Amino acid sequence: MNNQRGILAVISGFSGAGKGTVVKELLSAHAQEYCLSVSATTRSPREGEVDGKHYFFLDKADFERRIGEGRFLEYACYVDNYYGTPKDFVYDKLNQGISVILEIEIQGALKVKERHPEAVLIFVTPPTVEELEARLRGRGTETEDVILSRLARAAEEVEYMNKYDYIVLNENGKIAECAEMIHRIIESEKRKTVYGGELIESLREGLAAYKKGE
Ligand code: 5GP
Repeated sequence: MNNQRGILAVISGFSGAGKGTVVKELLSAHAQEYCLSVSATTRSPREGEVDGKHYFFLDKADFERRIGEGRFLEYACYVDNYYGTPKDFVYDKLNQGISVILEIEIQGALKVKERHPEAVLIFVTPPTVEELEARLRGRGTETEDVILSRLARAAEEVEYMNKYDYIVLNENGKIAECAEMIHRIIESEKRKTVYGGELIESLREGLAAYKKGE
């Protein structure tokens, strides 16, 4: 199954689930196999964020023009800002056989699945609400209001978890294990028959001569 297309893997999780750290670990442990899609957004850059590396920072008019031009694989509105996945980059990498990771929120993830049923949707979560809350508090950077609003949002998001293909636990301090679990899931996806067309075809050709009566 050489020359196989890459796997489109979507990773989502509650705010505070640690998905960013896990994705970073996955990319550093398997640098040749994966690349991360850089999204476009209309939100302002945070300190230290670099245009083109963390996000493509666009103004609203530019973002909406690109929507009109069909340049996003998916986009969503999240906390009053647009976020979207540029299409060309993703398709180029997949065609080169490189798997692409989208770290996006749930509405976008479901749109990707609609458009690409073969995409694998992975939801990363701490095992308990206590752990989720402790992590949100442990960051030490958010106000009580922000923490409570993130937990309220998680309470809405939990309703969509069963639309994902896999749930992966991110247990305290076990980042490498969590990243490895995601890697194994993606490796298994590659074995799905939907990607086996070329192999099946070459076996069929090779076996044609042995068909009864030929
Ligand atoms: P933040 O503003 O904290 O960087 O991201 C807010 C949320 O938007 C996160 O859940 C993040 O995963 C999600 N997000 C980032 N890029 C995209 C994108 O291209 N599409 C969608 N649908 N969500 C995104």
